[in-house]
Amino acid sequence: MKELQAFAKNYQAEMNWEISTDNYERTRASLLNNYMLLTTEVAEVAEELRKAFNHTNTLINNGMDEREAFEAAKDAVREDIGKELADCIAYITKFANYFEVDLEDSFYQKMEEVRNRKNRDVGVIKK
Ligand SMILES: [Mg+2]
Repeated sequence: MKELQAFAKNYQAEMNWEISTDNYERTRASLLNNYMLLTTEVAEVAEELRKAFNHTNTLINNGMDEREAFEAAKDAVREDIGKELADCIAYITKFANYFEVDLEDSFYQKMEEVRNRKNRDVGVIKK
């Protein structure tokens, strides 16, 4: 992930897509604009899920087994959902680079923090 984050930093500089650092007002506007773009990309992931579910339903209605239909729908959206997840990563790495966050370190630290939470939700009912 360090390599990916470094690539994103260079790529965003090359494309002149970095978060503005001119002054507070411009930086604030740039951060909010990029946040808006990130949330748009997250919504595009949801759109791909919607396509997959609609495709699954169409196949089921045409007589295909449910599991087989969903596997076919997953295959159908794989490339596009990959692109949307990549778009999300582009904006996430932009924020990480702006705030000088090592995303890989943050990720593992956060996952450890979640693992050790005392008030974890109970997701499974034991019988
Ligand atoms: Mg997109």
